[in-house]
Amino acid sequence: MVRGADTSQQKADAAKDEAKGKIMEIDGIIAQEEANRKNASARSAQKIDEKVKNLKEQRGEFSNMINEIETMEKSKQVYSLVSLLDQPGNYTLYGDGNKLASQPGGTYYRDGKVVMEYRFGNSAARAHELKHGFQFETGQISFNVDGSPGLLHDLNDEVAAYRREDAFTLRYGKPLINRTTSKMTSYYSNLPKIDLSVKTLTESVKGAYFGNGYQIRYDDEGKSFQDAKDEFFKGQVFMRQ
Ligand SMILES: [Zn+2]
Repeated sequence: MVRGADTSQQKADAAKDEAKGKIMEIDGIIAQEEANRKNASARSAQKIDEKVKNLKEQRGEFSNMINEIETMEKSKQVYSLVSLLDQPGNYTLYGDGNKLASQPGGTYYRDGKVVMEYRFGNSAARAHELKHGFQFETGQISFNVDGSPGLLHDLNDEVAAYRREDAFTLRYGKPLINRTTSKMTSYYSNLPKIDLSVKTLTESVKGAYFGNGYQIRYDDEGKSFQDAKDEFFKGQVFMRQ
């Protein structure tokens, strides 16, 4: 994360602090539920168990988020966390003081930096883009030369980012859902459904189809691939056709 040069680190710190606060709240709720369970009927106990299970999953998203941000902080890759609402020109200001970003958020590669831009002034949108940043760090996504999401961007990456986002918007104790394409906007409908990562590029996944219009093919050893456009992968490896 960038320290000093912009407000990325402050935003990352705010995200971590918020997640820590939520973990404490959830721990309090779990303790209360477990105390209630002692005198509960079998039926109520079952409901409590379900709720506690959901709470623990939600808690897991918050604690993973903290770890993921810390991993990005230690990385050699520079990550930048940007709110579109901070930059005049990126939003419309209404008379009542409300701002509306004029473009969707997203995570891009720009001038050697992974830029995580979020559109709304809420933590859920921020958490979504932070997840994509971490996906680059771990080789789950790559970027095209123009900086837009590249070959490795697949539906699973979005499912994970929405799950993280949902952890912030769901009421405590409600189940986190693994969204499928039908629960996302059509923007994602062409994304490959198989889980693609830097790791799969070195494995013999032959003829894997990429929904964004071209095919990636592996040679007989399953090592090199053809038909790929220039891509940015973790470590700033720039692979050419
Ligand atoms: Zn996304």
